[in-house]
Amino acid sequence: MIELIETDTVPEALLQLEDATRIRDIFPHPALLRLEGERREALFVTVLLHGNEDTGLFAIQALLKKYARRKLPCTLLVFFGNVYAAAEGLRRLPGQPDYNRVWPGGSERDSDEADLIDRVTARVTAEPLFASIDIHNNTGKNPHYGCINRLTPDFLQLASLFSRTVVYFETPRGVQSLAMAEHCPAVTVECGKPGEARGTEHAASFVETLLHLEAFAHHPPRRDEIDVYHTAVQVKIPDRYTFSFTDKDADLHLLAELENDNFTELPEGTLFAARRPGSEAHFEAFDDEGRERSRDYFIIESDEIRLKKAMMPSMITLDERVIRQDCFCYLMERVILPEG
Ligand SMILES: [Zn+2]
Repeated sequence: MIELIETDTVPEALLQLEDATRIRDIFPHPALLRLEGERREALFVTVLLHGNEDTGLFAIQALLKKYARRKLPCTLLVFFGNVYAAAEGLRRLPGQPDYNRVWPGGSERDSDEADLIDRVTARVTAEPLFASIDIHNNTGKNPHYGCINRLTPDFLQLASLFSRTVVYFETPRGVQSLAMAEHCPAVTVECGKPGEARGTEHAASFVETLLHLEAFAHHPPRRDEIDVYHTAVQVKIPDRYTFSFTDKDADLHLLAELENDNFTELPEGTLFAARRPGSEAHFEAFDDEGRERSRDYFIIESDEIRLKKAMMPSMITLDERVIRQDCFCYLMERVILPEG
């Protein structure tokens, strides 16, 4: 059983922390901090579900410094998640499940981590929850954007308070925002790469805006205020093929320039990769139901792999380890919202 630290006071050392790998000096185990506010409504924020993504931690630190001598506008609950991986500067430790896949509703529920998350969820959902924010970083050049699992006015407003770029997704299951969506408007915010001051400031001001917000309006944001995209497929490279951005002898030669096209709508025929002549290498593209649908999204002609239709990529990264462990990118298409 994983210990859950529960506290209603801000440790002084948390305000001085400069390096997320020292988080266990303050919280040796995952921790739930509850701070009473002027209003009873509670805002729930999770940080460090991925140990190497420190923007949420430092955004909360900035906010707690600002409110060190005054009461918060509303009650704030902060869950400091995978402190074990954070201490090592890793997303998760070898052998650990992903702390953002073990929330209620997921399939990886038979673990000590899922049991920990159940205890956190029980505590948090006993409060009059107003909204939930899960703060993350990613690799690659991406704009800051929010991810939501429902297209109702309150979820759209919550996300648009962070960024006009919004991603709507239904899988993977077991993520914080999907679990919390059962209780209140919930968003996952992607704040660029870890360690960037711009990301920390943006996340902190977003959380502070929410602390002051008393209610969501009943109408959605106007169409020209928000760009919503839906993830159509996750693009992977089968393990049996080698790939490289630099080595033209690899089975798949990927184009490094594509990293600049994250969140850019690319036309049909855009070149994604070239394969070594004689190789059978190709991408695989999985939709929400796990069906392999690369033939619907890519065409291969003369060993060049091109987009079969106009799509917008996200999360393209040059990090070969991330590509191998996770994926090369996602392909998204625009969601047309009903007129607000
Ligand atoms: Zn993350």
